[in-house]
Amino acid sequence: MDQEDKNTSALSNRMAVPGETRKRQDYLEWSEYFMAVAFLSAQRSKDPSSQVGACIVNQENKIVGIGYNGMPNGCDDDLLPWARAADDRLNTKYPYVCHAEMNAIMNKNSADVKGCTMYIALFPCNECAKLIIQSGIKDVVYLSDKYHSTPEMEASRRLLDLARIPYRQFQPKRNKIVIDFESIGLCAQRECNGGCTPAVNGDSAETQNKD
Ligand SMILES: [Zn+2]
Repeated sequence: MDQEDKNTSALSNRMAVPGETRKRQDYLEWSEYFMAVAFLSAQRSKDPSSQVGACIVNQENKIVGIGYNGMPNGCDDDLLPWARAADDRLNTKYPYVCHAEMNAIMNKNSADVKGCTMYIALFPCNECAKLIIQSGIKDVVYLSDKYHSTPEMEASRRLLDLARIPYRQFQPKRNKIVIDFESIGLCAQRECNGGCTPAVNGDSAETQNKD
């Protein structure tokens, strides 16, 4: 339970004042937020068979890196293969694609990611485990472990265990987080970005601007 959650439970024990406007209770918890950012990032992936996102967070709960799986910068992803299987491994995606974890680390907007937590949709492979260890990430939170029994994941667990980097499976409290562009209340006014309250009963813009 972080400080914010402690405050929430302290508040919920407080007597409600009739008519009082209280803060929302169904806001995203930090871990849901960071995992959702990883999942949103995955939507950028062009990989037809696997879209994975990663989000790196520092000890102040600030996001310092986001990434998703894709071909290396400057390498035309129309000229590289996306297949999972082929007679020649050179015609599969595997020798070329950068995993989400690598991209999140390389995309960092801080000097380093030492002491950070990485949120990832999928348990990291052995190559990503190496990067996680070498970059100083201290904690891994993943959602799916669907390749658990493969040699890559076994090797990954060995490395993370030896490096004493804990990994834990995220337990979502909800199965879906929906992003609804219409939830902001898009109004018909041309200038409005969704933040305006349409004038009601002759309320002037001047009156509204005082809020
Ligand atoms: Zn990997």
